[in-house]
Amino acid sequence: MDYFEEIGARHFILEAYDIVLFVYFFEEAAVKKYSGQHSVATRRKKRGVVFSPLAPDSMDRCCTLVAHELCHTTDATDKDVGEQSLHPDGLAEPDRRPLYPQGKAEVMALGIPEARGVERRVEELTQCVIGRKTAEEVGWASMAGSP
Ligand SMILES: [Zn+2]
Repeated sequence: MDYFEEIGARHFILEAYDIVLFVYFFEEAAVKKYSGQHSVATRRKKRGVVFSPLAPDSMDRCCTLVAHELCHTTDATDKDVGEQSLHPDGLAEPDRRPLYPQGKAEVMALGIPEARGVERRVEELTQCVIGRKTAEEVGWASMAGSP
């Protein structure tokens, strides 16, 4: 994150915007080299970094990561554990009967549960929804029980 802080400071980006997300694109051939680089964001500083291969078929996935990290900067929490979406808040349709398969993913879980313990990775933003809990966390909906 220091690398991005320095770039942001040098170009006066950090003070110009309330939220700053850097997207670090790397060559597709370097995917292995960057496999350990996870996208991150901090809510305190409202900054984040998304790592993505620079390739036409990677842009849709990159957009989902940007949305996920953007939500983190505005107080949203992860809604998955060990790549399993948490019920109910990590599911796009927690009240669906039967519960599986889910048709979409909650943006803070990024998995589409097809059966209990079986999930498909989100590939594009159109497969994501913002669930009730995330909407509350980012301030788009009032907290349950509050006026
Ligand atoms: Zn996250």
